[in-house]
Amino acid sequence: MSYIDSYYRRTMHPATAAQTPSDDALQGDLDTSVCIIGGGLAGISTALGLAERGIPCVLLEAKRLGWGASGRNGGFVSCGFSQNALTLAKKLGEPHAQQLYGLTRQAYKLIEQRISGHEAHIKDPVEGNITASWFDNAAGLRHYVDEMNRIFGEDLVFWPREKIRESYRTQRYFDGYFKPRALRFQSLNYALHTAAMARNLGASLFEDSRVTQVNAISGATQRWQVKTAQGTVRARHVVYACSGYLDSLHGKLSRATLPVATYVLLTEPLGARLETAIRSPYGVADNRFSSNYYRVVGDQQLLWGGRVSMFHPSQEKLRTIMRNDLLSVYPQLEGIQGEVAWGGYMGYSAHKMPQLGQLKPGEWFCQSFGGHGMVTTTMGGELIAAAIATDDPQYLLFADFGLDYVGKPFGPVIAQIAYWAYQLQDAFHARRLNH
Ligand SMILES: Cc1cc2nc3c(=O)[nH]c(=O)nc-3n(C[C@H](O)[C@H](O)[C@H](O)COP(=O)(O)OP(=O)(O)OC[C@H]3O[C@@H](n4cnc5c(N)ncnc54)[C@H](O)[C@@H]3O)c2cc1C
Repeated sequence: MSYIDSYYRRTMHPATAAQTPSDDALQGDLDTSVCIIGGGLAGISTALGLAERGIPCVLLEAKRLGWGASGRNGGFVSCGFSQNALTLAKKLGEPHAQQLYGLTRQAYKLIEQRISGHEAHIKDPVEGNITASWFDNAAGLRHYVDEMNRIFGEDLVFWPREKIRESYRTQRYFDGYFKPRALRFQSLNYALHTAAMARNLGASLFEDSRVTQVNAISGATQRWQVKTAQGTVRARHVVYACSGYLDSLHGKLSRATLPVATYVLLTEPLGARLETAIRSPYGVADNRFSSNYYRVVGDQQLLWGGRVSMFHPSQEKLRTIMRNDLLSVYPQLEGIQGEVAWGGYMGYSAHKMPQLGQLKPGEWFCQSFGGHGMVTTTMGGELIAAAIATDDPQYLLFADFGLDYVGKPFGPVIAQIAYWAYQLQDAFHARRLNH
């Protein structure tokens, strides 16, 4: 099983490309303390958190480490959640929202530490991201910036439209803001790097090891039997970290997470043409519900992400769809070619917050990070690892965000209709505000 063709596979670090840090497929029976199902960043972060705390663990990945959303995303790393932070503050009250946001800040710092010394093949050299407003609503955006700085201690800087349009040569954008504490990375190299860290500390990681069944073993102490085609792991704890790829492995968890597709395009090298559109080194996202997010990578190429959908077109079709999206923002780039486009599934909960917790003693879940999974998977892995290793109760801060039903089997259809409604709402706002 190989990785799908993407920027990430094409730029895998030679050491990781030659030898990923896994133990191949599980064969035979193993006993351990913790068995983690899923080798995306949620599973890998949990394994690393456990290994750092001296707890033996085995991770089982159906395909390759980082094969899912974690190794094919936009690579934008910043604090917060899929749910808007100000909405959280309104809903939970500022102190609780600040605690949650603070956990993502700790995770951000942890990512920086884990990257340290390996920046060259993981991290984009310039930090900071721009959010560009699709709507002519400077007062609303200033209010957002002020509130984020006041409540969450962010250091967002408002950029007036002249500055935005100087840096991004499109009439689509109005004002914006700069978020200095944000980085972008090669997420597959990061996933494999952290997997190697976990393995060096004693974690066992198996690829090509799809879990087919999990059974409780009755006895004096609760244990779990986790089965793959060729082996079994018996463990005191089991952690589900399969997110948008969970399928029907666990009914209750599966009914609570909706796989949502989103896509990315890598353009050909743009050379001097890039400057006709983009004159700033930061990552960019606009502020629509289904926004575009992009950054410059490699040889003056654009990594252009966007759209949310329940459907997954072919890579060839995606190349055209995403290129047309790019040209609708930067028509001056007409004629450029896309090199490769791909998509992946994010796991979304009904409340757009991560789902972290325990169903029965020793039966843990760490899933549904939505479109904001780089920092939150690291946070989720740490919280679950600390809960297992030292009974740390911090994961209970997420107890309000339960396993709400996402409406399967009609969920995908309902969600698709909801997305179209959000897109119409964006178009309506743009018509009302933009003159
Ligand atoms: C195209 C795209 C762009 C994105 N851009 C960004 C971004 O710029 N910034 C950001 O913060 N987030 C982004 N996200 C979201 C982010 O990538 C995810 O939220 C995050 O990677 C989820 O990690 P995970 O470990 O929970 O799931 P995944 O990375 O999807 O991993 C789940 C793993 O579980 C495995 N699995 C499933 N079933 C089994 C089984 N039965 N047995 C064993 N293994 C199993 C799968 O093979 C898979 O490898 C993006 C997502 C996509 C798809």
